Amino acid sequence: MNLKDAIRTIPDYPKPGILFRDITTLLGSAKAFRRAIDELVQPWAGDKIDKVAGIEARGFIVGGAVAHQLSAGFVPIRKKGKLPHQTVRMAYALEYGTDEMEMHVDAVIAGERLILVDDLIATGGTAIGAVNLLRNMGANVVAACFIVDLPDLGGRQKLEALDVPVRTLTAFE
Ligand code: IMP
Repeated sequence: MNLKDAIRTIPDYPKPGILFRDITTLLGSAKAFRRAIDELVQPWAGDKIDKVAGIEARGFIVGGAVAHQLSAGFVPIRKKGKLPHQTVRMAYALEYGTDEMEMHVDAVIAGERLILVDDLIATGGTAIGAVNLLRNMGANVVAACFIVDLPDLGGRQKLEALDVPVRTLTAFE
């Protein structure tokens, strides 16, 4: 079974001309979901990872499963205004303009070894915002993991230039 075949492509979503890579079909397949999580965590089997940070919303699904598999805690990174306790905020680049993401001020202890997880990396703007937010709180970001890479958009290189090792399972050119 090829993980790439488990991902559905939706043309013209959310805008005309965009090919949206839809991982809900992968999540809906017991075999593909398990295999994706097993493969994502493989470099850290037996390694001590304190926490996994997942980016709203699909990063919660993938990141929660990764955290469980690594016996790590989970840290939600959310769009602004969604978290109930005191938060720290970080601006990040969107295709057009910027937005802000947040995490709880006490979600990470300085020095903790942490893996960042999302479903997909495109331009890297979202993941770079999350890395900056986590590093500002003293986290040691050991790696960033994504099921899907869109290499033409260059996000992976930007993250690696920040000294964040990147793990992806499949790519759509
Ligand atoms: P980036 O910030 O340009 O790297 O975009 C990545 C973010 O946008 C991630 O949080 C993804 O979930 C989301 N995203 C962008 N394109 C797609 C897609 O084709 N399928 C699923 N999510 C996408």
